[in-house]
Amino acid sequence: MYLSEYDITNPVTATLVASERITPLNWEAEVRHLVLQLPQGAELDFVEGQSIGVLAPGPHAFGNKHHLRLYSIASSRKGEAGKENTFSICVRRCFYLDEISGEQYPGVASNFLCDARPGDPVQVTGPYGAHFSVPADDTSNMLMVGVGTGIAPFRAFVRHIYEERGGWRGKVRLFYGAKSGMELLYRNEHNKDMALYYDDASFRAFEAVSPRPAFDHPPALDNLLLQHREEIWEMVDDPKTYIFVAGLENAKAKFDKAMIAIAGSEQAWQNRRADLQASGRYAELIY
Ligand SMILES: Cc1cc2nc3c(=O)[nH]c(=O)nc-3n(C[C@H](O)[C@H](O)[C@H](O)COP(=O)(O)OP(=O)(O)OC[C@H]3O[C@@H](n4cnc5c(N)ncnc54)[C@H](O)[C@@H]3O)c2cc1C
Repeated sequence: MYLSEYDITNPVTATLVASERITPLNWEAEVRHLVLQLPQGAELDFVEGQSIGVLAPGPHAFGNKHHLRLYSIASSRKGEAGKENTFSICVRRCFYLDEISGEQYPGVASNFLCDARPGDPVQVTGPYGAHFSVPADDTSNMLMVGVGTGIAPFRAFVRHIYEERGGWRGKVRLFYGAKSGMELLYRNEHNKDMALYYDDASFRAFEAVSPRPAFDHPPALDNLLLQHREEIWEMVDDPKTYIFVAGLENAKAKFDKAMIAIAGSEQAWQNRRADLQASGRYAELIY
């Protein structure tokens, strides 16, 4: 779906209540955990796996009326830390290179959000997205695969199933890739937020970092998945397993690469994925 197709007719003005950098200060990539508070009476009911729209303030380039960007909600439906009418997002400060001038420009929405300070207004729309959601049956297995800020919906999932629902009986496996240990969001030395929720017998997390972070090599997520190929295939074969892939395009590319090897051929994985999709057991949130 194109961004221009999203309904932004009823934006709500939220207030930024907290902004915390969750990659170390001396680390080049800046990723921030932002908590937003909705005004009293605002109707913005969301569930885990949905995204929120942010309308960055203008004026905008090329005469555009709006600058809408989507961010995965990192809180569970009861709000950030259970606080009603709040939600969090996890934002990477982006830059892009103008190929003609060779100059580096800041991404509009991500820089607006990363520069915003507590008390600042933020226009939000949505929530959007319905297919990327926690299964209703608590004996379901969940295979969660993500890279970078793709961790955000999984933070919401884990918080919901262990903190809010409780007694989750299915297997939950997180395979997560980042450029370095410092970019293992919510799971690095600086911020261990996610560890607070999944102290549970059914949960296991596996992490991959880039072999050469200085050269921008992607994390070795495919190798990590291959190391666990037996358990992964067993899960794929189990009709109670739901598979979620989230983050940048390279999360999907690495996942597909590993699954082609595990399934035996590209065709075998394509067929299997089509079956999983048809039965509502496979969902992607790729950007
Ligand atoms: C469903 C969904 C969920 C998402 N969740 C998250 C999330 O949880 N966290 C997160 O950090 N991001 C997330 N994103 C990505 C996010 O929506 C934005 O795309 C990202 O923050 C960059 O937006 P921006 O406005 O800062 O950059 P923009 O100003 O849009 O620039 C970003 C890109 O646009 C291109 N571009 C724009 N203008 C120009 C120009 N003048 N010349 C050349 N190239 C240009 C460049 O390729 C550049 O890399 C998600 C995206 C989707 C679709």
